[in-house]
Amino acid sequence: MRPLPIRVKLTAWYVGVLAATFALFGAVAFFAMRKSIETTVDESLRDRAAGVEELMERVLPDGPERLGEELGEHSELREEGNLSQVSDQEGHWIYRSRLMKRYDVPLPETAGSKLYSLELGSLPLRVLATDVRLTGRTYRVQVAASLDNFNDALDHFKWVLLLLSPVLLLLASAVGYWISRRALTPVDEITRAARTISSKNLSSRLAVPQSRDELQHLSETLNGMLERLEAAFQRITQFTADASHELRTPVALMRTTAELSLRKPRPEAEYREALTQILRELETTSALIEKLMLLARADSGVEALQFAAVDLAENLRQACRQGHTLAQGKQISFQEQIANGSVVVEGDAHALQRLFLILIDNAVKYTPPEGRVTASLTDTNGFAVAEIRDTGIGIAAADLPHIFERFYRADKARSREMGGVGLGLSIARWMAEAHGGAIEIDSTPGQGSVFRIRLPLSRA
Ligand code: ADP
Repeated sequence: MRPLPIRVKLTAWYVGVLAATFALFGAVAFFAMRKSIETTVDESLRDRAAGVEELMERVLPDGPERLGEELGEHSELREEGNLSQVSDQEGHWIYRSRLMKRYDVPLPETAGSKLYSLELGSLPLRVLATDVRLTGRTYRVQVAASLDNFNDALDHFKWVLLLLSPVLLLLASAVGYWISRRALTPVDEITRAARTISSKNLSSRLAVPQSRDELQHLSETLNGMLERLEAAFQRITQFTADASHELRTPVALMRTTAELSLRKPRPEAEYREALTQILRELETTSALIEKLMLLARADSGVEALQFAAVDLAENLRQACRQGHTLAQGKQISFQEQIANGSVVVEGDAHALQRLFLILIDNAVKYTPPEGRVTASLTDTNGFAVAEIRDTGIGIAAADLPHIFERFYRADKARSREMGGVGLGLSIARWMAEAHGGAIEIDSTPGQGSVFRIRLPLSRA
C-alpha cells in the first residue's frame, strides 16, 4: 500500500480529534440539558404540591367536598393543575383532575414523599407523591407534569446535534486539508528542488522561504549540508586529480627510460643505469601510493589506530636515531633535547613514530648543509610538547596557511627534487589530530622553522 501523504495524515488526525470532541461535547450537552429539564420539572412539582397542601390546610376544615371544589376551580385556572389528585388514606378519591382520571394515574404503592416517572399509554409523566397529615388524617397528594414537550425539545436537540456534526466535520476537514496543503507546499518545492541536485550541479542551492519558521530553517540547514558536501566533493576531485598527476610523471619517466633502453642493443652498464633509474622512480611511486592509501583509509575512517600507553620520550629517541643518520648524510648537526624519564601518552606507537619521522625528514630536507636540526620534548599543563626545530630555508607567510593541504608544496621544483610530493604534513596533521592533539608551525623564511606537536598526556 502506498504510504499516505502527510497532509492526508494530518487531516485524518485533525478530523478524528474533532469528531471525538464533537461526540463528547454532544453527549455532555444532551445529558446536561436532560438533567436541567428534570430539575426544573421536579422543582415546579414541589411548588405545586406545596400549593395543594396550603389549600388543603385552608379548606379541609370545611369538609372534603369543599376541597374537591376548590381544587377543581384551581385546576381550571391553571393548565398544569389539570394533573393533580388527592385521596384519603383508604384510597377514596377526594379530588381527581380530568386528565388524571383519563390516564388513570394509580395511587403510589408506598406511603411517603417521592418523585418518579411513569409512562401511561404514550404519555410520559413525572409524578410527585406526598402524604399530608391534617386533622388527624393522612391524605395522599399526587401532582404530575407531562414530559411530552420536554422530550420533544430534547429529541429536537439530539437531531440537531446528529445532523449538524457531520456537516461541520466535513467542512472542518475540507478547511483542515486546505490549510495543511498550503502549509506543506514549500516542502514540495524543497523536495522538487533537492531532486534536481546531483554531483553535476552541487553548487546549486535551494530557495530559502523568508517565513522565519521551520521551513526556512530546514532550507538553510539543507543548504549548509550542500555546501559541506560540495567542499568535500571538491576536495576529493582535487585529490584524485592531483594523485593521478603525481602518478603520471614517474610512470611516464619509467616508460620512456625502458623504451629508450630497449630501442637498440646496449652495453650492460647502460641497462644497469636504466634499471637503477626505474627502481628509484618505483620506490618514490610506491611511497606515494602508500601515502595515498593511508590518507584514503583515514578519510573513510577505516585506518584504525592501535591505542596503548606509549612512552613518547622513547618513541622520539628512536626517531632521532634515524634523524642522526639522515643529518649526517647532509653534514647537518642533529641535536636531541629529551629529558630522562618517560612522557606517557595514549597513542599508536607506530603512527607517532611516523609522525616524528615526517617532521625530522622535512627538517633535514629543507635545511642546507652546516645547518642544525633539534628535536626536543617537554611536558606542560597536561600536554606532551614535542618540537622539531631547524635552521633551514623556512616557509613564506603566504604558504603557511596551506602547508598542511594535500599535495601543497611551497616550492614544487625543489620539493620534487628532494623526493617530496606534499603529503607528509597532511598525514602528520591527521595523526596528531587522531591522537586528540594538534600540530602548529612557527617559521621565518631564511632562518628556519619550528614544528610543534601537542598531545594530551595519559591520565592513567
Ligand atoms: P613534501 O613531501 O613536499 O615535503 P610535506 O607535506 O611534508 O610535503 O610538506 C609540504 C611543504 O611544506 C613542502 O613541500 C615544503 O615546501 C614545506 N615544508 C615542510 N617542512 C618544511 C621545513 N622544515 N622547512 C621548510 N619548508 C618545509
